[in-house]
Amino acid sequence: MEREVRVRFAPSPTGPLHIGGVRTALYNYLLARKLGGKMLLRIEDTDQNRFVPGAEDYIRQSLEWCGITLDESPWTETPGPHAPYRQSERKPMYLQYAQQLLDSGHAYYAFDTPEELDAMRARLTAAKVPNPQYNSITRAQMRNSLTLPEDEVKQLLDNNTPYVIRLKVPRKEEIRFNDLIRGWVVVHSSSVDDKVLMKSDGMPTYHLANIVDDHLMEITHVIRGEEWLPSAPLHVLLYRYFGWESTMPQFAHLPLLLKPDGTGKLSKRDGDRLGFPVFPLEWHGKDAETGEPTVSSGYRESGYLPEAFINFLAFLGWNPGTQQELFTMDDLIATFSIERVSKSPARFDQNKVRWYNEQYLRAKPDSELAQYLLDALKEQGVEVSANKAEQIAALVKERATFPADLAKEAQLFFHRPTSYDEQVISKKWNAQVAGALQEFALALPATADSTPEGIKALLTQVLERQGIKIGQVLQALRVAVTGAAAGPDLMAIMSILGPEETAQRLNLAIDQLAAQASA
Ligand code: GLU
Repeated sequence: MEREVRVRFAPSPTGPLHIGGVRTALYNYLLARKLGGKMLLRIEDTDQNRFVPGAEDYIRQSLEWCGITLDESPWTETPGPHAPYRQSERKPMYLQYAQQLLDSGHAYYAFDTPEELDAMRARLTAAKVPNPQYNSITRAQMRNSLTLPEDEVKQLLDNNTPYVIRLKVPRKEEIRFNDLIRGWVVVHSSSVDDKVLMKSDGMPTYHLANIVDDHLMEITHVIRGEEWLPSAPLHVLLYRYFGWESTMPQFAHLPLLLKPDGTGKLSKRDGDRLGFPVFPLEWHGKDAETGEPTVSSGYRESGYLPEAFINFLAFLGWNPGTQQELFTMDDLIATFSIERVSKSPARFDQNKVRWYNEQYLRAKPDSELAQYLLDALKEQGVEVSANKAEQIAALVKERATFPADLAKEAQLFFHRPTSYDEQVISKKWNAQVAGALQEFALALPATADSTPEGIKALLTQVLERQGIKIGQVLQALRVAVTGAAAGPDLMAIMSILGPEETAQRLNLAIDQLAAQASA
């Protein structure tokens, strides 16, 4: 029988989730949903020294905001079939597995003190060994259950001497596995060190806990960042020594995320420095050195829509092989495949994420955009009807990247100009134009048709009478009505302002510019 597809996102609560982490969660989620499998989340908190309060909650809120739903996690009301999903709560489970490896001779006790380990590294460094490690060669000179007599080991254990349990990595062996993104990966065991599996405080390390849990939780695919690729050979050995090779998950190591200029990995520290967020949500942290409170910006608080953020992230390392760029979550689920994930690094593109936001913002129903606008204007003390807000939203959305831009762009409807674009005035404003606009202002209040088309027809009529071409007045008219040289469709602006207000603004401009000219 085919196994049910089960994937996991396994973050460590050591700080806020970086966008690379969200991408990992997303690809796992897409694969699970596409193949009708399960997506679970496990909190990997075995390293208590790196635990950051609030990080777990942050991860939870981030995934919720992104619309990445979980089938099993520490946060469900009824415990899932493999609960608990926090490794710290699973602590008592791991020792038996370490014991299994000790019994089969694939692991050993090591009693070396920190000083002895330092001395070993110093010795190797002095001998110009490039990468000093506790491994199949050096372990012969260390204090462990492979080198010490059996009764001494027993005595050390009886005396509660601190120890760690290390994996006994074979000296000469080829470790191979087929990565779904990278193809066959072949590593020689001499480059793998004897990793600690159990720490002296009785806590498992990431490696042991991760493999045991993936096995117990029946994970079929491990999709994770490229930084875990060097650990994969060790993980393959663990599956082998536990006798779990036949159900070993398939590995897929995702490509790196690079800074916009491609000069290196996009790190947690880059974001605000490079002018864009690297976190899904705003994060309130502490400066590592000074302990001062810090705030790092988030996509949510910067006005990004989760749909846009997700669409953008999906394309950082994957593409559908077609020209289509806009994918809702459902589209992504239908189209996603691991085969189309690239192994080459993906470069972060700030313009692209803004572009996505524009597309999703503009695709929203005008009534929804009007609601953003109404809320923002209310905060500014501006009263406006829902109907008018909708008209304004429909007009200004083409110029907006973020919801807040709608309110910015809408200001012209609520504030008469206090200054007029000087360049346009100096080039386009003259007595003939002013005269024509005065006639237009005069005709406006009587018009029966205040649609953009009606206003345009009226303007054309007036200008014909004046013997002046529309091209000669349009820019001046815009500046007279709005103050600015550029903006949304002018006929639509005048239609929304209404004939009365438009006429008043024109008269105001004519008066002010005349006063300026004579001053
Ligand atoms: N806890 C690891 C992390 O923080 C998980 C790595 C894995 O997926 O195996 O990324």
